[in-house]
Amino acid sequence: MALIVQKYGGTSVGSVERIQAVAQCVCQTVKAGNSVVVVVSAMGKTTDGLVKLAHEISHNPIHREMDVLLSTGEQVSIALVSMALQELGQPTISLTGAQVKIITESEPTRARILHIETERIQQQLNQDKVVVVAGFQGITNTWEWDITTLGRGGSDTSAVALAAALRADYCEIYTDVPGILTTDPRLVPEAQLIDKITCDEMLELASLGAKVLHPRAVEIARNYCVPLMIRSSWTNEPGTWVLPTKPQMRSLTNLEVARPVDYVTFDAKQLRVSLLQVPDKSGIAARVFRKIVHQNVDVDLIIQSIHEGDTNDIAFTIRTPFFKQAEAVAQTIIAAIRAYQETEADLAEVTVQQNIAKVSIAGAGMIGRPGVAAKMFASLADAGVNIQMISTSEVKVSCVIDALDCEYAVSALHKAFEVDEVGNRELRVPTEWGLGTWDLGEDMEIEKTDASFSLLTPTLSIRGIALDIDQARLAIRQVPDHLGMVAKLFSLLAQHKISVDMIIQSPRCRMIDGVPRRDIAFTVAHTDAEFVRETLAKAAAEFGWGEVILDGAIAKVSIVGAGMVRQPGVAAKMFEVLAQHQINIQMIATSEIKISCVVAQEEGIKAIRALHSAFGLAGSQKIQVPV
Ligand code: ASP
Ligand code: MG
Repeated sequence: MALIVQKYGGTSVGSVERIQAVAQCVCQTVKAGNSVVVVVSAMGKTTDGLVKLAHEISHNPIHREMDVLLSTGEQVSIALVSMALQELGQPTISLTGAQVKIITESEPTRARILHIETERIQQQLNQDKVVVVAGFQGITNTWEWDITTLGRGGSDTSAVALAAALRADYCEIYTDVPGILTTDPRLVPEAQLIDKITCDEMLELASLGAKVLHPRAVEIARNYCVPLMIRSSWTNEPGTWVLPTKPQMRSLTNLEVARPVDYVTFDAKQLRVSLLQVPDKSGIAARVFRKIVHQNVDVDLIIQSIHEGDTNDIAFTIRTPFFKQAEAVAQTIIAAIRAYQETEADLAEVTVQQNIAKVSIAGAGMIGRPGVAAKMFASLADAGVNIQMISTSEVKVSCVIDALDCEYAVSALHKAFEVDEVGNRELRVPTEWGLGTWDLGEDMEIEKTDASFSLLTPTLSIRGIALDIDQARLAIRQVPDHLGMVAKLFSLLAQHKISVDMIIQSPRCRMIDGVPRRDIAFTVAHTDAEFVRETLAKAAAEFGWGEVILDGAIAKVSIVGAGMVRQPGVAAKMFEVLAQHQINIQMIATSEIKISCVVAQEEGIKAIRALHSAFGLAGSQKIQVPV
């Protein structure tokens, strides 16, 4: 017998018939011998309707009153679902967030959950009742006991947080799509259902998956080891398992506001190769990486920064296993690139730097919290560590530094983010999913946990492909390469609550006016772009940087998959596919499980279609999604 939390979204409880269907589905789960906690959203578009109503009364309604208003939608649903279950002879009780005591911060309209009292639910479950809980809402634990809501789409978060607090076996999210898909089926008709995906992959696919599953819910699932099943409420077909891969014995207090960073990882044995002044033509990155893949070296971080005039800089790091001499690896690469240069005479400058380390911070909590990257840069600056390269993804920031600085850097980051060492623990996942138990060892390097990935049988190295057209690109020219400069830059943006997505620092350093300078490029949401441009242009005199350039017409194309860790050549293939379609790459950033390229906006859809089919994700099963 299992304890299952089932969450039904707005469309799943959108009418009397749908509510009756939900009751049937819950009863079946109970008959199969399970205890069930049901979490529901407001019926259909109720919440939108309430928002509209409020704005008819007031231009700027007070947030507290908005919460009092919006929380009513879910209260309607719990009562009706509970009645429908009782009609089927199933004893139930409905509870609001306040009745359960889902305690949140006092941040009206976007509160995070602090903790959940489980006593009342547990007591009702012990009496064989189904407990129907209102999603999206909570209560503050101040003397006012104010009602709060968690932000739009927040009932996913309620459901997963309840599953974590109750230590449920898993959480099912019933929705109006069949599960998580390999890409957006409205853009790529050959998109297919993914049967299993890790929470990390899901978070890196945030821009693809966010409409189906709230990233905060995935963050909780990952941090508290709650397996999730995303499935359609219209069929009995299984959907997608979203699975945590690392055991986390976290405390259940400060559930959503604990540390934004989970891990500090490092690799102190890397080489850095920089290709400077590469012509800005499609196909160059592809040709360079095709050469390198043939040398059998393990390429790790790749960045390509913005072009200046008509050239790009590409830099990448290579893992140098101790049994290979770094020097020998460097020579092989130089030889390969020289051979290529002789035939194509394309590259102006190649440098190989040894004794390079990569330090990274990783954690789902950095999503939507501006300032985490800035804090990393500031801690490194305070420790006297110069940052040579930066590459970011949704849930990770990596900096390339001198290997001699690695120890300082790692201890500074441990301190700054209060990260403890990862202990020697076991993660148990029901064997019905064929995953079994595995031992994660004591090492704190994420690479060491790859065993968990292979258990998810990544026969395909790429799990999904995402297109993000909501970002704009900003470039700052000639940023002085002083210790602490990037920290100041991103702290400035964090102060204005600007979330920065992809950050790339150019590997090219030039002396101008007696000061070494580098270009820095990053992406932010379209809605923030103009404000950021102005803010940075205003700060130019104080900080000593040059022109600030905004390009709004970009698309970010990402491929995500834990399997790529063990498969060299994935990056080369991605670049090659884009080249074959004459798509020029403007920026590249990578994490272990994701490669993102910025391309011109009008090429975005063509790019994801090409990549989707090149990585073998296309299928013939037609997936229906609501418009
Ligand atoms: N009813 C809320 C909304 O529409 C919460 C949810 O559906 O998850 O945002
Ligand atoms: Mg919803």
